[in-house]
Amino acid sequence: MQRREVDAVVVGAGFAGMYMSHLLRLEGYDVQGIEAAADVGGTWFWNRYPGARCDIPSLLYQYSWSEEIRTSWKWSEKYATQPEILAYANHCADLLDIRPLYRFETRVTAAHWDEAADRWLVDTDKGEALSARFLIMATGALSVPKEPDFPGLDRFKGPQLVTGRWPHDPVDFKGKRVAVVGTGSSAIQSLPHIAAEALQVHVFQRTPNFSLPALNAPISDEERAAFEAAWPFYKQAIDTGEPGVELLPEDWDPSDEELAEHVKILWNGGGLVSTVQIPRLTKDERINDAACDFVRSQIRELVNDPVLAEKLCPTSFPISTKRACVDTDYYVTYNRDNVTLVDLNEGAIEEVTARGIRTADAEYDVDIIVWALGFDAMTGALTRVDIRGEGGTPLRQAWYAGPAMWMGMMVAGFPNLFTITGPGSPSVLMNVILAGEHNVEFANAVIERMRARGETRVAVDAAAQEAWVDHVRREAEGTLFPRANSWYMGANIPGKPRVMLPYVGMDYKLRLNAAVAADFPDLRFEG
Ligand code: FAD
Ligand code: NAP
Repeated sequence: MQRREVDAVVVGAGFAGMYMSHLLRLEGYDVQGIEAAADVGGTWFWNRYPGARCDIPSLLYQYSWSEEIRTSWKWSEKYATQPEILAYANHCADLLDIRPLYRFETRVTAAHWDEAADRWLVDTDKGEALSARFLIMATGALSVPKEPDFPGLDRFKGPQLVTGRWPHDPVDFKGKRVAVVGTGSSAIQSLPHIAAEALQVHVFQRTPNFSLPALNAPISDEERAAFEAAWPFYKQAIDTGEPGVELLPEDWDPSDEELAEHVKILWNGGGLVSTVQIPRLTKDERINDAACDFVRSQIRELVNDPVLAEKLCPTSFPISTKRACVDTDYYVTYNRDNVTLVDLNEGAIEEVTARGIRTADAEYDVDIIVWALGFDAMTGALTRVDIRGEGGTPLRQAWYAGPAMWMGMMVAGFPNLFTITGPGSPSVLMNVILAGEHNVEFANAVIERMRARGETRVAVDAAAQEAWVDHVRREAEGTLFPRANSWYMGANIPGKPRVMLPYVGMDYKLRLNAAVAADFPDLRFEG
């Protein structure tokens, strides 16, 4: 078969893929980008459900690497909406002139390593055959929605909407009876909007979640100026791996009274940033319990019906061991007459019928079903592609017992392959745009070194990978994360190995920088 030769294939046109493609082109490489969506934006292209917003303040949830992009964009709100973030992604794509590098509406289906040529043979669902020296999978940690698999799905007469693949035309909920299934961030953000329009909403809850108030507001000119003044400090923190916010010391040892007072910061609108300001929140049971007690006390304040309030109070996992949600009016929405909570612990979903959803207890007649079931996180987009490394070994087989890789970026036995925000990197535990930047810049540094020395092949040392996987596991074992049935642990997908997917250590960027400075001691170069 005739294959078109390029230097690099970059899969994904989210923030990570766009940056990777831009850097490689800048250095003179022949890059082919491939993206399943019709345009750029990744997460923000697909997740158009009402109420979708970032949970990291907009001023921080943006590229840090380009002065031109940052100073030419003006965020309007503390937590930007999906349309505004997508507009920003388009602004970046325009400034970088990125679209000509991409084939859109095209999915990479297979990538096989050609050992004789030191190249990746890449196939797409549009029949294109490529051969590339490097393959960069910027395919997103949260890009494969979990599909509903209840019996009877095809029987339902009305629309079924998946939050992670929301239609582009506005959905009219007016006068409609709606089922929202799931109570993760996507449901928590969309429920208040759906409930404000719909005739009736039934929320199907299996596990209640902790959600913190966004206290969203327009960004004032003063706040913008203050951010710009502090920018050099933030940028330095991003590049060096310093925390970037002032933190209490790790050995902070408050009295019970001090602790109860301190955890109130969770309600100050800082969202996820406020969780970072509680030392050892995900390590120390006493500290975590105090935070859980405080949030539950707030839920009880907000929800009028005490029985309902208890059902909305999470008790089965420590706070922050699932990504905490950041909401606007989530809990008070349950005070509306048109919203009911269906507690799936009292009767699980048995089937979807022509008229709605039937649980073990009752049947709920609805006009629209919204599935907010989450994602096959961190590994889903990678294992859905038929990736085969040395000796034709499939990645799915290499990862049978869980994803084994070095720094979330490279897999032993799969040379010249880089993944962005992969398992074993902090990825979804931090600001994911910045996590992507760190990985893109590292991959770029490796590729640049190879060009400088005329090398054609790079692979991670198997022993170094094993040591890293072991380190990631041990770091997680020292925390409360394993106690939650979370997507961090792979627990949301039946049959997925139960391992902590993101790296919890705070030293990741320091390690990346050290690896670059030491000329990549864990990597083996040839050619
Ligand atoms: P993505 O944006 O996921 O882009 C990956 C792209 O790869 C997708 O467009 C996908 O179509 C494409 N792709 C995948 N597989 C293939 C294939 N085989 N062939 C072709 N194309 C493929 N993070 C935060 O830090 N803060 C937030 O506030 C935040 N909010 C979020 C809200 C939602 C609803 C979701 C789902 C995630 C959110 N995240 C947030 C995480 C978010 O995914 C990242 O912040 C960031 O946008 C990821 O960018 P990315 O480029 O790495 O991946
Ligand atoms: P999620 O957090 O995984 O939530 C999925 C929900 O669906 C959970 O309540 C889950 O219940 C439920 N569920 C899954 N399968 C089910 C089944 N078979 N029966 C009944 N209920 C089922 O997914 P998400 O809300 O899409 O969020 C995923 C991540 O994306 C977030 O953690 C965050 O990182 C990111 N995100 C961020 C924002 C933001 O605020 N910017 C918004 C959306 C998403 P269980 O808990 O019992 O499994």
